[in-house]
Amino acid sequence: MKKFVQYEFESAFAEWLGIPRAFAFWKGRVALYAVLKAMGISEGDEVAVPGYTCIANVTPIYYLGAIPKYVDILPGTYNMNPRALEEVITSRTKAIIAQHTYGIPADLNEIIRISEKYGVPVLEDCCLALGTRINGKRVGSFTAASYFSFQWSKTIRIGLGGMLAINDKNLAGKIEALRNQSMSSPGMLESTLLSAQMLAYGLLYRPSTAMFLEDFFRFLTNHGLVVGSYSLKEYDGSAPRHFLKGMNRVQEFIGRLGFRKIEAIISHRTMLQKIYEEYLQKMNWPVLNDSVDSEPVLVRYPIRVKRKLQVLDDAYRDHIELGSWFDSPLHPRETPLERYGYIKGTCPEAEQAAREVVNLPLHMRITPKHAETIVKWLVENAIPANSTISITGQSHQLTRYRLSGADA
Ligand SMILES: *Cc1c(COP(=O)(O)O)cnc(C)c1O
Repeated sequence: MKKFVQYEFESAFAEWLGIPRAFAFWKGRVALYAVLKAMGISEGDEVAVPGYTCIANVTPIYYLGAIPKYVDILPGTYNMNPRALEEVITSRTKAIIAQHTYGIPADLNEIIRISEKYGVPVLEDCCLALGTRINGKRVGSFTAASYFSFQWSKTIRIGLGGMLAINDKNLAGKIEALRNQSMSSPGMLESTLLSAQMLAYGLLYRPSTAMFLEDFFRFLTNHGLVVGSYSLKEYDGSAPRHFLKGMNRVQEFIGRLGFRKIEAIISHRTMLQKIYEEYLQKMNWPVLNDSVDSEPVLVRYPIRVKRKLQVLDDAYRDHIELGSWFDSPLHPRETPLERYGYIKGTCPEAEQAAREVVNLPLHMRITPKHAETIVKWLVENAIPANSTISITGQSHQLTRYRLSGADA
């Protein structure tokens, strides 16, 4: 039996979050898999999950033989609608995944009330919400378990990486045992590839090359040339060999260094959000609703536009870094929804959001000047989704996004 020692990154993370124990993994989805497994989720069990998420949040449920039940979102917060949650709960429901989408906190008060009423535990998905607070308390510390991601598009970017935060002694013991019994270490080849691609990304990235790099890395991934975030095999619905993998030393090192700057990263993100919102408001565009008791730290700034695919295509042409998730109720756009039990029409609000939402970057390489350029470009080249202004622009040939889906 192999014994995994506690990383410094794990203890620093646990202390910062104010929970007893954190466990580092190869990816965020592996952290989810580990906790579901430790909770005893198995064949035929059901897990409630928002129908506005990425496929990485769904495959671990299938790997255990369990079934996801998709819950629609509220249009203003992009988070699980508690009323819709209550409707999907049955005697087979064994867990609820409360995702804090884009960093906006989910309605935990209501979700926890429902979880207690039916005796079903809640897992907080904090992959997009590192640093967000509700009533001064950080998300990820409200329930028995929560998980975070350090994938390159998240708040702290290792390339790949995940953290499981455990707020329950008994469950922590089970995770410890699971790690020592069945977790493997990342292989030499994939560790080396990951290091090389982190280096390449660091060297190649500019705000003007962001969209191109994303395409390039997707291309390399599909040809097996980098350790990608998504592998095509994952769509099979069966667990890849050695899925339960730990974090390697290079990931741990980079994660620990990045984590030391967490407060600076948070204030940078908040500052950029303010720049975006001030300009949007000045131009009569809608902004996110303020809530008195929450302090969100956003991963990207979401905004709804008309003709999203065309706007993304124009941004690509003009070298403007504009994001596009979630593109589907189970991101990415290519996900075969029926294979993962998502029937079209199940979550209409989520489907509409997928058709409308683009997002603006808030990461450390974006300066206030970049932010101004990006938001001005958006206001000049797009129309807010709920606006009644008709579109009079000349017809335009979609190049990049036409390939992957029809515009709304
Ligand atoms: C990125 C993400 C995950 C999975 O994280 P990985 O580290 O890529 O496995 C899970 N949930 C949400 C909401 C995410 O954005």
